[in-house]
Amino acid sequence: MSSSSTSPHPKPLDAQNTKHVVLGNLLFKTWYQSIYPEDLVASDTDRLYVCRWCFRYSCDGAAYRKHTRVCEHRTTPPGTKVYDDAGYSVWEVDGEEYKLFAQNLSLFSKLFVDHKSVFFDVVSFLFYILVFTDPNNPDNYSILGYFSKEKLSWDPNNLACILIFPPYQHKQLGKLLMGVSYKLSAWEKDAALIGGPERPLSEMGKKSYVRFWEERIARYLLLDKHGEDSGDGVLVKQQQKISKSSSKKRSHPQKSMSVQEIGLATGMLTDDVVTALTSMGVVEPTTNKKRKKASSSEEDTTAEDRSVSVRKSKVMEWVRSRRVALQDPVREEGFLGGWALSDLNGVRSVESEEDE
Ligand SMILES: [Zn+2]
Repeated sequence: MSSSSTSPHPKPLDAQNTKHVVLGNLLFKTWYQSIYPEDLVASDTDRLYVCRWCFRYSCDGAAYRKHTRVCEHRTTPPGTKVYDDAGYSVWEVDGEEYKLFAQNLSLFSKLFVDHKSVFFDVVSFLFYILVFTDPNNPDNYSILGYFSKEKLSWDPNNLACILIFPPYQHKQLGKLLMGVSYKLSAWEKDAALIGGPERPLSEMGKKSYVRFWEERIARYLLLDKHGEDSGDGVLVKQQQKISKSSSKKRSHPQKSMSVQEIGLATGMLTDDVVTALTSMGVVEPTTNKKRKKASSSEEDTTAEDRSVSVRKSKVMEWVRSRRVALQDPVREEGFLGGWALSDLNGVRSVESEEDE
């Protein structure tokens, strides 16, 4: 099974490596070791030209410019559009159907990601590319990044590898892709599909995910549409046992909720909920003395059993102090096709074909 990331410490760049890439009209430095075939891309290449639509590459600027005039994807990205909002769209590209595209995208990405394992077997992956379309010219688009996902995963992974290309980083676009990846894991239909990114995460990946999870939970606890202001009551109590079937999606934050319940409402793994709450610093020491102290065996210290409580005022303070915008990076209305909203509750209807 491939792993999304191996070393938390980037290896120093080999002196013999492709140093810069030209993507469309952008020139920028590479970060990590190239795995381009050496007979096509010499190891001391200073400038590699990469097509911004299909990721074909060339060391020869003239050949590259010639290609961009005839590129088969120059006006439309490959695959099927699954999301579209405010100029940003996400397209699902099957690595088997678009093998060359997926291989070239992977080779390019490797220059900015410090692991190799997911880059060879593109056929068993789906690629979700993030596209920005020029509002004044619908034929002019750029691919800003992507995430990949294993078609069949035995682990609860909703994402294998995620990358926003360097010129487009620090614009909250990673959060947009993460939000889309959670939606596409289909946890809203079936709680058994709740998942998260493939582990282990790189250092940068972990930082990005923890922030994404923190905001996702804060948004749920503070902004839920059906929520009533519960004052400053204790919001989360891990002790409370709930059964999966009794919980409804996005049920309003009660005075007391379990970590599992937050996970079910946000599509997050219990471990990730605990990670986020702890990182936010909003967890208060539990005062529940009734907790069985029967054993200190290992089974007793799993995430399922951890006891935490959180106050809403602390969550609000966290939001204020970090100037977090609670707006969801992903708009439900932006999803298309099978992922489109079909009723007010965001539950997909299966009866539409029988209607009329
Ligand atoms: Zn091209």
